[in-house]
Amino acid sequence: MRTKEVRIGKVKIGGDNPIAVQSMTSTLTHDVKSTVGQIERLVNAGCEIVRVAIPTWKDLRAFKEIRKILPDVPLVADIHFNHKLAIAAIESGADKIRINPGNIGGRERVNEIIKVAKEHNVPIRIGVNSGSLELDLIDKHGGVTAEAMVESALKWVKYFEDQDFTDIVISVKSASVPMTIKAYRELSRKTHYPLHLGVTEAGPQYMGIIKSAIGIGTLLADGIGDTIRVSLTADPVEEVRAAWEILKALEIRARGPMLISCPTCGRTRVNLLKIVGEVEKLLQDVKLPIKVAVMGCEVNGPGEAKDADIGVAAEPGRGVIFRKGKIIRKVKEEEIPQALLEEIKKFSEDQS
Ligand code: SF4
Repeated sequence: MRTKEVRIGKVKIGGDNPIAVQSMTSTLTHDVKSTVGQIERLVNAGCEIVRVAIPTWKDLRAFKEIRKILPDVPLVADIHFNHKLAIAAIESGADKIRINPGNIGGRERVNEIIKVAKEHNVPIRIGVNSGSLELDLIDKHGGVTAEAMVESALKWVKYFEDQDFTDIVISVKSASVPMTIKAYRELSRKTHYPLHLGVTEAGPQYMGIIKSAIGIGTLLADGIGDTIRVSLTADPVEEVRAAWEILKALEIRARGPMLISCPTCGRTRVNLLKIVGEVEKLLQDVKLPIKVAVMGCEVNGPGEAKDADIGVAAEPGRGVIFRKGKIIRKVKEEEIPQALLEEIKKFSEDQS
């Protein structure tokens, strides 16, 4: 279903807009210097919407300063429990707020937030999490289930609509990948509001990326989702990198290089792990969406990676560099990463 378009500062999600990458700062928000520094790192890594937690008034005052320092970055204020903080965040320039309406302290308070959001044209994400579902819904569904999360989200959507507020984004996150997938699939059949995808509390980097890639990736492959957030117990820059890799792997959006490398086998006669590690590092500064292949031998080198823009197939002690499947030069093993970078630069220049 084509979703409704919602504007979050300079970024639009829903409708025909690209799927936006978002993350959340992990610094103490009231530490303005660190928070601004982290937001800048996130934006450099490709984060298009940045969420900031505002648990206290001290953090709210800091948020005002951050807003002034970074006027162009789409900032989302994440608020729990305190409707006055939510209202103040909107009045301080938040481009969107995220609340769980079930924990704001009653419908009157939710109404007050809606009123101010409407006056400022600020969208609200109704963020339902499996960990904070209403007790009556848990009872009704016999536990925390995908159906219960969807019912909670749609109940609040209906409530917001009854207050004549439709600038809505929805999320129904669970730490369980199957439950997350089930909930979003059901939700997408029942609503036209844009969906913020994510597997919550996905875990440390390795496990979290796998869970997020399966959960978010499955839904994106189904055509569901308008913005994504990978949640990791790690530097949030890693969340942004992982989100982009998911979008790139599904060929939904391109950003920077796609690195193809072989798993190595008994034919490998160079230190391919070291070469790939070095190439990966060098590619971090390359912006062009280019396909780069690093293959451990000539058997499957240019052949298997022939659609790569630039690649190398290793031979004992050296590398055969190829461009679009055609061999262009041969270099010593230790020169492979640098030679690839030179050829990538030439390729980039030829494209511009
Ligand atoms: S490209 Fe060559 S070295 Fe790499 S896995 Fe395939 S056969 Fe083995």
